[in-house]
Amino acid sequence: MAKRVIVVGSGIIGASIAYHLAKEGAEVTVLDAGEPGGIATRASWAWINASWGNPEPYFRLRMASIARWRALQEEIPGLAIQWCGGLIWDLPPAELDAYAAERAAWGHPIRRVTRAEILALEPNLREVPEHAYHVAGEGMLEPLAATLALLEAAKAQGAEVLGDMPVKWLEEEDGRVTGVITDEGVIHAEETVVAAGAHSAALLDSVGITLRMSSPAGLLSHSNPAPRLLNGLVMTPGLHIRQTAEGRIVAGTDFAGAEPEEDAEGLARSLEAKVEAMVKGAEGLGLDFLTIGYRPTPADGFAAVGRPRNRPGLYAAVTHSGVTLAAVIGQASATELITGARDALLAPYHPDRPSLT
Ligand SMILES: Cc1cc2nc3c(=O)[nH]c(=O)nc-3n(C[C@H](O)[C@H](O)[C@H](O)COP(=O)(O)OP(=O)(O)OC[C@H]3O[C@@H](n4cnc5c(N)ncnc54)[C@H](O)[C@@H]3O)c2cc1C
Repeated sequence: MAKRVIVVGSGIIGASIAYHLAKEGAEVTVLDAGEPGGIATRASWAWINASWGNPEPYFRLRMASIARWRALQEEIPGLAIQWCGGLIWDLPPAELDAYAAERAAWGHPIRRVTRAEILALEPNLREVPEHAYHVAGEGMLEPLAATLALLEAAKAQGAEVLGDMPVKWLEEEDGRVTGVITDEGVIHAEETVVAAGAHSAALLDSVGITLRMSSPAGLLSHSNPAPRLLNGLVMTPGLHIRQTAEGRIVAGTDFAGAEPEEDAEGLARSLEAKVEAMVKGAEGLGLDFLTIGYRPTPADGFAAVGRPRNRPGLYAAVTHSGVTLAAVIGQASATELITGARDALLAPYHPDRPSLT
C-alpha cells in the first residue's frame, strides 16, 4: 500500500520532497497557505553553490545537491538550470586565497583567474581585481519557475497540490502526528512533513516541539530586462549580481539580500545604481521592482532535516540555502520517509541537535 504523506509548504523544499516522494510511489498531498511556489523561494537570489563559509560536511551536502540537481534536470522536462559558473572576489585577497586552497583540497572545481581571464568570462564588467576565482560547477535557476516545474512533476506522478489551504496546527493522537487541521477540517496522513519555511517553527510548536530559528530579511533589486550582459554569477565585495532568464539583473549587497532599511525603495535604487556603474550596457536600465524575502534559518545556520523528537508521523525540513539544498533534501527526506534509512550526509543536520532545541 502506498504511504499517505502530507507535505505542508510548496516552496522549493516542499516541492522537491513531494516530487521525490511521489516518484517513490507515495500518495502525496501538498498543502500551501497561499499560491503554490513558496515565499522565501520567490524572493531568492537562487545561486546553486558550495561556496565559502561552509564546513566540510555542509560543503559535501551541497555538492551532493548540485549533483542531484543535474540529475533532476534530466528527469524533469521544463526544469531549467543554467550551469553558468560563478566568479568570486568578495573576500579580502588573503581570505579568498585561503578559501580557494581549502576548497581545492576538498576537490572543488575552483580556479584562480587573472584580470584578463575575468574579462574574458565577463567582458561587460568595469571594475575587476587583479585576480579572482572561478567556480565552474555553480549554477542558477529561476526559483519560482523551477519550483512550479517540480510541483508539476510531482503531480505527473500522482501528487495533489492544494493552494489557499493554510494548516492551522498539526493533529496528534497518542503521541503520533496523524495529520493536519485546516479550515476545511482534519486531513489525515501516515506522515506529515513540515516544509513551511519561516512558519515551520510555529507549526512544530503546535505539537510541543521547539525548533529555534530566525528569518532574516533580504532585499534584492531587479532591473528592467536587458539583452544578455552577464554570462554567470558575479560575487564582488558589496555587490552580488546575476542576470535572470528574462534579462533582469538581480542584485544584493550579497546573495542573501541587503538588510532592508526604512527606505527600501531608496536602497534598491542605490543597488541598481551600483549595477549600472559596474556593468557596461546597463546604463539607464532602471529599477523595475524590489523583493524582500525572509530566509528560513535554523539557529546555528545549518539545515534541520529529520524526524523531530523521533515523533512518529512527523518530519521537518527547514533550511536557508534552500535553492542549493532542495534537490538533496528532497531525495534524502523521501528515502528516509519511505524506507527509514537516513542518508549519512544528513547526520549532522537532525532537528534535535542541541543548538536548535
Ligand atoms: C533574499 C534571499 C536570497 C537567497 N539567496 C539564496 C541563494 O542564492 N542560494 C540558495 O541556495 N538559497 C538562497 N536563499 C534561501 C532560499 O531561497 C530558501 O532557503 C528557500 O527558498 C526556502 O524554501 P522553503 O520551501 O523552505 O520556504 P518557502 O519558499 O518560504 O516556502 C514555504 C511555504 O510554506 C507555506 N506555508 C507556511 N505556513 C503554512 C501553513 N501554516 N500552512 C500551509 N502552508 C504554509 C508558505 O505559504 C510557503 O509557500 C535566499 C533567500 C532569500 C530570501
